[in-house]
Amino acid sequence: MNTIEKLAERARELAEREAAGKPAQAPEPTVPPPAAAPPEPRTPAAPPVTAAIAPLIEVDDIAKVFDVSAPWLNRVIERKPRQLLYAVDGVSFSIARGETLALVGESGCGKSTVARMLVGLYRPTRGTVRIDGHDLARLSGKSGQALRRRIQMIFQDPYASLNPRWQVSEIIAEPIRVHRLLARPTDITRRVGELLQHVGLTPADAARFPHQFSGGQRQRISIARALASQPEFLVCDEPTSALDVSVQAQVLNLMRDLQRAAGLTYLFISHNLAVVHHVADRVGVMYLGRIVELAPKTTLFANPQHPYTRMLLDAIPDTAMTGRARTPVGGEVPNPLNPPTGCTFHPRCPLADARCRRETPRLLPTANGAQAACHAVEEGRA
Ligand code: SF4
Repeated sequence: MNTIEKLAERARELAEREAAGKPAQAPEPTVPPPAAAPPEPRTPAAPPVTAAIAPLIEVDDIAKVFDVSAPWLNRVIERKPRQLLYAVDGVSFSIARGETLALVGESGCGKSTVARMLVGLYRPTRGTVRIDGHDLARLSGKSGQALRRRIQMIFQDPYASLNPRWQVSEIIAEPIRVHRLLARPTDITRRVGELLQHVGLTPADAARFPHQFSGGQRQRISIARALASQPEFLVCDEPTSALDVSVQAQVLNLMRDLQRAAGLTYLFISHNLAVVHHVADRVGVMYLGRIVELAPKTTLFANPQHPYTRMLLDAIPDTAMTGRARTPVGGEVPNPLNPPTGCTFHPRCPLADARCRRETPRLLPTANGAQAACHAVEEGRA
């Protein structure tokens, strides 16, 4: 049995469980509590967190600014200024081949905007996105299309992301036709059947319509469509948040198996730290358009540095019954149209001081091999 056959077998098992209503082998229902050891003070000599091998994705200082001003005439009559919303402001990271980087944060932190800039749905206002050394913004024509074939996206809502008027065969065959990967209709039909088998469905499902499937099955169809163009990099924008918990585990396990079999690279967007703990190699925590902490998964969950990361981890329910106290996330996310000065987290931060209200912290290396944007971490008082 070769790798693809094993993969198809595994996916079929998961799909049968889903159809039988049995819970899948859960990834890890809980996130281990952070270690009790106090964080170590930052030393400037610590190496930055970078991908160990040549990165496939390099994001350098990207920003996205939306003009949300009222119409010109209203502004003139009501004497209102122009309003700009900084959805993303100075985000940089890299992702190695075969690696999964997760971006987490509360709603409105800019993680989905980053995802859309990486697949070319939004053009960055500033900064560059490089895929395998090619600047995404400078490519056009055939070379641009060839590069875009290597990048695909899986959307949050499997009910909205599939055309309800198309049969599954048309949905999955579309990228194959657009990128001219196969020409003969018989070859395309055979390939669609193979892709359906890879995600735990059957070739006979190609004749059905999206409304005839459950939510988990629809997300499998979305994954099959994303794989149809033989991509190297998948941007997954909350791919399981619209699904039941048991189905979430099946879809996450399927994505992990596909990554191992095909060497895929993932950018995984989520607000669920338990899901992130299951899938990610490294984690970036975002707050109001910036990355405030970037670290290997084990480091971040065992020894979080930034006060916001600690706040998020403290709010995870203690389903393992370890006796760890759970503290709800305090305060409100500020209005992004009128963000606080200095560190934008300072109105909610227990460690804020005068410098925090005045000066925006930079993302700097920490002693534990992470990166954090926090004056308290830099000064060793976190
Ligand atoms: Fe808190 Fe200051 Fe660090 Fe911001 S820079 S997280 S306000 S201690």
